[in-house]
Amino acid sequence: MADETKKRVVVVGAGVIGASIAFELQRRGFAVTLVDKGEPGRGTSFGNMASIALDFAAGSGPSTWRKMPGWLLDPEGPVWLRPSYAAKILPWFLRFLAAGRPSRLREIEDAGMSLSQQALGDFRQMLEAIGAPEMMTEEGCLAIYETEAEFAADRGISP
Ligand SMILES: Cc1cc2nc3c(=O)[nH]c(=O)nc-3n(C[C@H](O)[C@H](O)[C@H](O)COP(=O)(O)OP(=O)(O)OC[C@H]3O[C@@H](n4cnc5c(N)ncnc54)[C@H](O)[C@@H]3O)c2cc1C
Repeated sequence: MADETKKRVVVVGAGVIGASIAFELQRRGFAVTLVDKGEPGRGTSFGNMASIALDFAAGSGPSTWRKMPGWLLDPEGPVWLRPSYAAKILPWFLRFLAAGRPSRLREIEDAGMSLSQQALGDFRQMLEAIGAPEMMTEEGCLAIYETEAEFAADRGISP
């Protein structure tokens, strides 16, 4: 029977984010209902690389900007934009470019790195609390580049 003394919360979306929020709220004493329009954990959280990266590369920056026109023209590229949306997205796009300035990039990467470190510890604690610590393994990550130039661009090394 539901405990009527507890505050009730509904969390919508049972991916990794919603499930983690629901778990934390329950741990803090709320009566939580987690709802999803489909099966839990079958959205983006199902089809990702399942890695927690400890080095953090910001999305904006000269190497991304240079690739952007080619991506936009490639039907299989990672970026696609409906032409009628171009004017609407412009303010966001200008902020995206500004975020790629070297000084700002460093700030973003430092903040991202500390967030990732925190996420690793939090995720480990959560898995232990639900009795599933074996679901996370700690391994390296192998990055493969086809050319020296690709490697240099990814690492921000001048040729
Ligand atoms: C190819 C790819 C690789 C990635 N690799 C990594 C990685 O290695 N490491 C990493 O940290 N991140 C990675 N990510 C990002 C990561 O997967 C997402 O940030 C994360 O899964 C988002 O979780 P979420 O719970 O917000 O979304 P989701 O997992 O998509 O969950 C949202 C849930 O909400 C439900 N929902 C949506 N609308 C409604 C509604 N109206 N009513 C009810 N339910 C609704 C959906 O059915 C879904 O189950 C990757 C992403 C992609 C696409």
